Amino acid sequence: MKRSPAQRELINCHDCGGPVSFSALACPACGSREPAGPYVQSRAERRRHRAEEKNDQTLLAMAVLCCGIGFFYGSLMVGPWGAIGYGLIGAIIGVPAGFIVNVSRRLFG
Ligand SMILES: [Zn+2]
Repeated sequence: MKRSPAQRELINCHDCGGPVSFSALACPACGSREPAGPYVQSRAERRRHRAEEKNDQTLLAMAVLCCGIGFFYGSLMVGPWGAIGYGLIGAIIGVPAGFIVNVSRRLFG
């Protein structure tokens, strides 16, 4: 017997264990408002979330680092206004640089 999509959607109620549709707002047997139980992140989701967090940190770190280098370089070579200009350029370069680091880590790491 082939299972219909509706049957495949049936899960066990988090509260009473009875069959309840995954998309149901409440359990028909016990009236539980959360028949699917509290949402739990899967391990893959957690890992992806951590990776994204790390990517954000890399992006920020690269932007700050390049901005700092530009600021330092500009102040040495041009003066205070050069520091601001080179700092901005550094930040603009740092964001895509961080992005490249993120992508290469995903490809090779
Ligand atoms: Zn129930």
